[in-house]
Amino acid sequence: MKTSSLYVHIPFCSRKCLFCSFVIAVGQEHRREEYVNALVHEMRKNKGQALKTIYFGGGTPSMLDEDHLNVLMDAIKNNFSLQSDIEITIEANPESINLSKARFLKAQGFNRVSLGVQSMNDRYLKFLGRNHDARMVKEAYRILRESGFTNINLDLMYAFPGETKEELEEDARAIAGMASEHLSLYTLTIEPNSRFHATQMKLDDDEKLAGHYLLIARILNEYDFKQYEVSNFSRASSFESAHNKNYWLGAPYIGLGVGAHGFDGQRRYWNTSNLQEYMQKAGKGEQVIEGFEDLTDTQLSMEKVLFGLRMNEGVPWDLVPSAKAGLVQTWIKDGFLSLEKGNLKTTDQGRLVLDELSSRLI
Ligand code: SF4
Repeated sequence: MKTSSLYVHIPFCSRKCLFCSFVIAVGQEHRREEYVNALVHEMRKNKGQALKTIYFGGGTPSMLDEDHLNVLMDAIKNNFSLQSDIEITIEANPESINLSKARFLKAQGFNRVSLGVQSMNDRYLKFLGRNHDARMVKEAYRILRESGFTNINLDLMYAFPGETKEELEEDARAIAGMASEHLSLYTLTIEPNSRFHATQMKLDDDEKLAGHYLLIARILNEYDFKQYEVSNFSRASSFESAHNKNYWLGAPYIGLGVGAHGFDGQRRYWNTSNLQEYMQKAGKGEQVIEGFEDLTDTQLSMEKVLFGLRMNEGVPWDLVPSAKAGLVQTWIKDGFLSLEKGNLKTTDQGRLVLDELSSRLI
């Protein structure tokens, strides 16, 4: 039986955060039931595989109510075989967590919650257009713990224009001090279909942001977080995100929902990002895949190299395409990469310029 990960996209949000460029649906909560039914139909087309991780992302999956989640989890259990040590994550926004919802999620088998915190500074939360404040984050976190969750990720965003070193330090310490098992770091970027894009906002320069990145990494280290990927930190290897590692290691995954992407080990495919079209077609059992790309062996190796360089464990030198070997050797000499026992890794210095190195490798 083929083993995969499963990503389920839930597009609903109560409003659009100003930095967001994801496929989302605002003010469409009345369509949740129709959407869930469409997901179940799409799920049936992929039935029969074994799952090692499940990830409900969005959007705001925690906006689904108990009936919707019941239907989805039953359908998953009926269509797939779940490994005994499966990691099941749900993304949640602080304002959508209450005690009964958290207890229900735990009882349904979710064993990891990723809480969209972004910042503990109320001024920056307002700037981002978030629906919560720092007090609500603390309350949601307390409720999750009280409900028995022992694997929680918190998202921390930085690089807000004009953010000072002192503000960042206070924010990083406030989030790290909550003692979650995992922390994901996001740099604010201005994406073309975000609301920030229209404002022509200018971000701070790369040198300042590199200093802020190092500051966060140092603070997280003080709080016993170990970095295992450029933007991901965990308190123990058992709390590293199994779902994301699956992506980074080039393993297959099924993507369900509007705008979702999947990968079967050779072919990458993506669903329509039009909600109406998705629900109509999926609901009738029709194909919702809008496009696909078959990757060559060289492209697959290159992806493994690019993702491997993001992870602390690195990547075997043998995967580096021969056409790029000279360039990579130069970066080793310059101290951006290191080669240890046939394994290529990014150094601390290299992490600061990894996006540029990656773009030159492609
Ligand atoms: S950032 Fe998250 S919560 Fe905000 S609009 Fe985008 S998907 Fe929704």
